[in-house]
Amino acid sequence: MGLRVTVARHAGFCFGVKRAVNIAFSAAQGENRGPLYTLGPLIHNPQVVEKLETMGIKSVDSLGNLEEGRVIVRSHGVPPQVLVEAEEKGMKIIDATCPFVKKAQQKVAELVEQGFWVFIVGDRHHPEVQALLGYGKGRACLMDDMERVTGVSKVGIVCQTTQSQESLARGVSKVLSLLGGRLEELRIHNTICESTLIRQKECMALAETSDVVIVVGGKNSANTTRLAEISKAILEDTHHIEDAEELDPQWFRGKRRIGVTAGASTPDWIIGEVVERIKLIGGNGKHGREDGREGRNHPRGAEIHL
Ligand code: SF4
Repeated sequence: MGLRVTVARHAGFCFGVKRAVNIAFSAAQGENRGPLYTLGPLIHNPQVVEKLETMGIKSVDSLGNLEEGRVIVRSHGVPPQVLVEAEEKGMKIIDATCPFVKKAQQKVAELVEQGFWVFIVGDRHHPEVQALLGYGKGRACLMDDMERVTGVSKVGIVCQTTQSQESLARGVSKVLSLLGGRLEELRIHNTICESTLIRQKECMALAETSDVVIVVGGKNSANTTRLAEISKAILEDTHHIEDAEELDPQWFRGKRRIGVTAGASTPDWIIGEVVERIKLIGGNGKHGREDGREGRNHPRGAEIHL
């Protein structure tokens, strides 16, 4: 019997990533042909970054020695100091910060302005979190560093947009158990973006109704890794891969229901290749789809109920 593959409806590029990629493409094709940079790779996907390079968009780690040109701020955003630095250098800023990330930045800035100390639930090294800390102007830190903070009574909590509800809940419990008695005021901003929430719910549904789940996306992509963790907590047979080459036929032996989901920076064509390869492994696919088209617009979410 062949494998039955279900692709999560919201697998792949989210609104913020699509928007950032479109902004970058328009900037590269516009009339202004000066040097064009992104601060860090535009998205966590090497193939897309290569494509952007061929269009003349260079990824740099910092503004460092740059003196002119245009700089694209990716969807994760940057600390405000970096924007000031770019302006001082006379560089044109093309801001592709995702509106959901902007909202989290604004919440941090507002809380600090109103005299709160801010705890951020997030991954220490993630650029979005680094940017949020920048908006904290020295009055914000990671939830993981909470033990180092003393003498605060007005506390705010803000979340990296791609965290899970469980991480936020753990953060809130930690604040209450360690600071509860001393708290004058606690404000919690659930800044997890809708796209992340939907994707995570779909991932849970997929794990509950599949024999194997394949999560596709960069190993350095925080939201993809989180999907893999969510699925693994429900279904041991969960595998996080970057592309179709990594699929191991052994994973599918004796299995039938295969779920596929992907992180917010995984292009559709990579998901399509993964689906086609799984179908080949299951012996129910030859080359491409049954209708002869490339496996890029495979049906999605047919069996997923949230
Ligand atoms: S995951 Fe959410 S916050 Fe992040 S870029 Fe996508 S839509 Fe924006």
